[in-house]
Amino acid sequence: MQTADDLNARLEASERQLEELTAQVAQNEEKMRRTQQRELRMLQAQDLESLLCELLKGLRKSYELQQVSVVLCDPDHDIRHLLLAAGTPAESFDNLLIAESLTGLAPQYVALRQPWLGAYAACDHQLIFPHAKGLASVAMIPLMHRNRLIGSINFGSGDASRFTRHHAADFLGHLGVIASFCIENAVNRARLLRSGFTDVLTGWHNRRYLQVRLKEELARARRDRSHVVCLMLDVDHFKRINDTWGHAAGDTVLQELAQRIDAQVRASDVAARYGGEEFVILLPATDIELGVRIAERIRQAVSAAPYELPGGDARTITASIGVAGVTPDPDAEDLKTLGDSLLARADVALYQAKSGGRDQVAVDEN
Ligand code: GH3
Ligand code: MG
Ligand code: MG
Repeated sequence: MQTADDLNARLEASERQLEELTAQVAQNEEKMRRTQQRELRMLQAQDLESLLCELLKGLRKSYELQQVSVVLCDPDHDIRHLLLAAGTPAESFDNLLIAESLTGLAPQYVALRQPWLGAYAACDHQLIFPHAKGLASVAMIPLMHRNRLIGSINFGSGDASRFTRHHAADFLGHLGVIASFCIENAVNRARLLRSGFTDVLTGWHNRRYLQVRLKEELARARRDRSHVVCLMLDVDHFKRINDTWGHAAGDTVLQELAQRIDAQVRASDVAARYGGEEFVILLPATDIELGVRIAERIRQAVSAAPYELPGGDARTITASIGVAGVTPDPDAEDLKTLGDSLLARADVALYQAKSGGRDQVAVDEN
């Protein structure tokens, strides 16, 4: 026989249990809402840089964690170079680790397919949490691409009971799937953007790239009070090559020509295919006399030996080069217009070289 007291006690216990469950449901709902918000922000990230900020700072804030780090395996230095090219080198992100291989970074990587939750151990985790202080528990969330482990997002908490192997980890796993997708997507987009700066025929940078770099070089010259020289080169009577030997022959000439010019410029110079048979070379920290000497060297290299054409023919090619230079004022603001006028002045000089009889270098005197 159950007494009324028994029943009462059981009722109270049930009520307590219900309260606990309700609280847990509310907590889970809140967790899910935060996770959904975070995932949405990751999916909306415009580029690799903002995605990494979202992962490193956004996740730390919304989950109130001591530390979040991201480890990415980058065997071909691809991601590092993409970040560098975007002006946000890997070193500029706190807690981002880009490694050639995951081996040796943490023992968990050997079999990381699902999130790993457990106690922080300095001997195991100090490499993936380079600035760790006071961490007690850790969640390592795998990042996968086509079934291959490409890194992890790592959560570090000062609370030992925050991540234990008894905790459910499905929402962390889900977060990892979304993050992996976003990383792959952002890397591909960065690759595409970079290939959008490349000329397919010569492998040189294209006009769009030149426009971006011209502004950067002018900003640097304004800061350093240095002089920038711009060379504009145009092949002489190129149309005749096309008309006589066909476009494919013209293409081969352009490729060979680009190589000959390349051999004359420094790695710090910016060389771009500006248009059809026009090339622009920016020479940072160069005075006009040296600029003219380099232009002259390029002109000679272009015509130094005949170009082999299909069918065993060979033909010597010449080019005309216009030279202009500028030292930006310290208070110059409109670098876009300054860049445009530098190009325009080099173009005027090029026109003078053409009308002076071609195969020569002409200097803009302004
Ligand atoms: P000038 O000495 O006055 O510069 O004479 P030009 O014949 O070089 O000048 P023009 O601008 O009349 O001709 C340039 C030609 O270059 C016309 C165009 O069809 C050709 N061209 C432009 N881009 C390419 C390319 O990618 N491949 C080939 N084969 N030809 C190209
Ligand atoms: Mg031309
Ligand atoms: Mg030409």
